[in-house]
Amino acid sequence: MASSLPKQKRIALVAHDHKKPLLLAWAKQHLEQLRQHKLYATGTAGSLLQQQLNLPITRLLSGPIGGDQQIGALIDTEKLDLLVFFWDPLTSQPHDPDVKALAPCCLGYSHGL
Ligand code: PGA
Repeated sequence: MASSLPKQKRIALVAHDHKKPLLLAWAKQHLEQLRQHKLYATGTAGSLLQQQLNLPITRLLSGPIGGDQQIGALIDTEKLDLLVFFWDPLTSQPHDPDVKALAPCCLGYSHGL
């Protein structure tokens, strides 16, 4: 079956606090590829990516105050092609139900690059 994904994809990047250094390292490693796509990120991750890597990003709310739900809505309305979530399975999150709702939708990194 032929893929119907556009060349410029809409990609969301999310990382829990302990995984933000991993997200930054991964994004730095894939910087030129990421620049070719439309990027979204939750609030804090988006700030870090903008400030440290100068990546143009549409920043959503911070995860604990609704950012993960905004990503879920983008997925539900087919406005997102890919979610990369650096998930910290060892730390309980105040917004755990929102995180778990996204889990089936993403590529997760919890153990390094
Ligand atoms: P944050 O949200 O980027 O605002 O820290 C991450 C998350 O979803 O927990």
